[in-house]
Formats: sequence, C-alpha cells, structure tokens
Amino acid sequence: MKYSTTLPVKPLPTAEKFSGKGPAYTRRFHVMAKPTGSRCNIDCNYCFYLHKEQLLEQDRHSGMSDEVLETFIKQYIDSQDGEQVVFSWQGGEPTLMGLAYFEKIVVLQKKYQKPGQRIENDLQTNGILLNDNWARFLRQHNFLVGISIDGPAELHDRYRVTRSGKPTFEKVMAGVAALKRHSVPFNALVTVNRTNARFPLEVYRFLTRELGATYIQFNPCVEPVDFKQTAPQFWQDDTIPVTGSRRARPGDLDSIVTDWSVDPDDWGRFLIAVFEEWVNNDLGRVQVNLFETAVAQTMGMPAQICITSEFCGKGLAIEKNGDIFSCDHYVYPEYKLGNVQSTKLAHMAFSERQKAFGLGKRDTLPAACKRCPYLKLCYGECPKNRIVRSEEGELGMNYLCPGIKAFFDYAQPILVGIATLLQRKTVEPA
Ligand code: SF4
Ligand code: SF4
Repeated sequence: MKYSTTLPVKPLPTAEKFSGKGPAYTRRFHVMAKPTGSRCNIDCNYCFYLHKEQLLEQDRHSGMSDEVLETFIKQYIDSQDGEQVVFSWQGGEPTLMGLAYFEKIVVLQKKYQKPGQRIENDLQTNGILLNDNWARFLRQHNFLVGISIDGPAELHDRYRVTRSGKPTFEKVMAGVAALKRHSVPFNALVTVNRTNARFPLEVYRFLTRELGATYIQFNPCVEPVDFKQTAPQFWQDDTIPVTGSRRARPGDLDSIVTDWSVDPDDWGRFLIAVFEEWVNNDLGRVQVNLFETAVAQTMGMPAQICITSEFCGKGLAIEKNGDIFSCDHYVYPEYKLGNVQSTKLAHMAFSERQKAFGLGKRDTLPAACKRCPYLKLCYGECPKNRIVRSEEGELGMNYLCPGIKAFFDYAQPILVGIATLLQRKTVEPA
C-alpha cells in the first residue's frame, strides 16, 4: 500500500499558469515551512521531528539560508492564484531563527506580493522564546500563533521537557503572557498522548478557562516504534497486528507503537468527554478543530481539515535545505518531491506523484472503512495512522479506529441536532 512513490514528479497541466487559452482554474496549496529543520530548544519525548536531521543527513546547526528562503517565498506566492496566501512556520522550533529572520520574511513577502493578494502568517511554537519584542512583531504583522501545550503543568510536563529533563510549563506560560500583553491572537495545539488522554476535562478546562484559548487543535499522538527510520506504508506487512489487539496498543512489550502513543480507546473516551463539555458550555464560543469539521461535514459541507477529508495532498512541507515533501508527516526520503532551487514548487505541488499521494487517502481505504457508517465523517482519518489490519486481516486500517467509532457512536445524534439547529440558524456558528 505505497502511495505511488515510484511515479515521476511530472507536472500536471494545472502546474502551468493560466495563459488565457482554455479553462481558468485556481491553483491553491499549502506549504508548512521548517526553517530550523528539526532543531528545537526542548526535547519532547514524543516529538516526531527531532530525529529528521539524521534521517535526512542534514547539518545540525544551520537553518534555512537566505537564498532558499527567498526562492521559497517567491515561488510560493507566484504559484498561487487565490486572494490569500498562508505561510505556516513550524519546526523544530522556528523562533530559534531569531526575530531578525522573521523581519526578513515579511520584507520578502512584501517584495513578491501580487496586487490584490493577502499574505498571512501562522507561527507554530513551543512559546518558550516569546517575549515583548516578539509579541510586538507578531501583533504588528498579524501573525496567528499556535502554542503547543498539553494541559495543566503536571500533564504538560510529563513529556514536554528540556534536554536535561526539566519542566517547560512555566516558560510556555510566560510566553503566552507576552502574547496576551500585546493582544496577539493564539491557538492551542494539544498532542493527546497516553497520559493526558486520561484527563480530558482537566485538559479542556485548563485550555478554555485558564489559558484562555478559544481555538483548540487536538492531535492524537500515534508513533510506530520504528517511525524514526521507516516511512509510513513501508512497514513489514507480516508484523502488522489486528486492530484492537494487544500489539495495537501502547504499553505492550511487542507493541507497534511507542509507550507515549495514545491508546485508541482512550482517544475515544477523551473525545467523548471533551465533546460533551463543549456542547454543554462552549458551542459557538470555543472552536475545536475536530468538532467544527464534524459539524460541517454533518451539514454536508466539505471537511475543514485534511485528516477527515476524502482526499489530501494539498499540504506539503519544505525542509531548511529547500527539499519539498508530500506532507509534514511524510518527511522521509521516499516522499521527497524535489528541491525548490532546482524544480518549480508548482510543478511539485501539482505533479502526478503528489496527486497520487492525495488520491491514495481514498484509494487505499480498507473494506471495513468503505462500509463504515461514519465514512463521510472520517474517511479513514490520516493515512500515516493506518498501521494495523482490519478484523478481516486487511492492511491499511487506522490505529485509532476503535476510538473514532466510539466517539461517533456517541456524538453522531448530537451532531445531527447541532446541524439542524444551525440550518435553522438558532445557533450562531463560532
Ligand atoms: S497524510 Fe495525513 S496529515 Fe498529511 S495531508 Fe494527508 S491527511 Fe493530512
Ligand atoms: S471510523 Fe474506523 S472504520 Fe469508520 S471510516 Fe473511520 S477508520 Fe474507517
């Protein structure tokens, strides 16, 4: 079940600009930029990115050079026809590049901005280096900041620690305080792991009542034990266990996932508890990525996030040396599409290989998903988590499936109720 990584990176017609002849189309895609590569100032136990410098054989200390940065910004702006271009800066830890580097970024964006085009920036950070200078800059240039935080101190500090194993919670909260002093909007990005998954209300109430987040992203932590070297879909078929079995859970000696990965059943219980609290207290006030898209999809609208879409492949990643990969979660040599310094970004984004990668999300669904009553809400979730077999023994089943099903068993009637109210406009969407 490999996503056609043998196809050439041959540009499709959509890669070329509309010349005035033939049908017009809009070219849009998204690139997650990693200017520091995997370099970070902390050492979260569960980080899926820290090891990339060995895998990609990169220089440990350098960041994205000025030359690569300018080429990327120019090509990214140039390749898009929409009114809005969104730059997402991530890592590793992007603030390690320093404030001056980000000042350079906004100058370059202005240099290449097209008339009528709106340029927006997201910064995903652990928050530790944020201070008043950063906050002033982020406010001035309308950056939307995502803060990685896993709940109150005792849960956050379970895995999010410094290289010497020290807690980071207080430092993150100092960064958030700087953002608040300068009215910088921020989101919370929570990695739901084996520990905090067991404390859903503690996590959610902390985020909404103490941190003051009104937009929350929950990302389940699912890490195969050999994820450092082996790309998704390149595992040994004969070692893959059946969904819900002992080896398809964290904590077992022979488990296929790391100890800190979320248990599939805990994922379901976590979502149910948070959803109930959200419906009762925060509907229309707090946005939770997974619930917003579930409501939208119940209303027959498109998914708002790639993992619950039928297809994906519109979110690429650029590493610090300019290499482009199919997705932030597929930064492995097998999924490298090329480099911005030698191949046009649009050619890679709209290439046959990338199209096959995106269609693979649907085309590799196991039969159990195809007949699932929740298919149109889930679409097999993210392909990188399809690491187990179905009960019939078919490959490509999502590790989280037992939890996803339990959540929809509980939430679907409520989702239908919310969708009906929204359609009658008796509830204001968030
Ligand atoms: S592989 Fe997963 S994270 Fe990447 S674009 Fe597809 S659904 Fe999204
Ligand atoms: S809930 Fe499970 S069976 Fe249903 S579509 Fe999602 S992953 Fe597939």
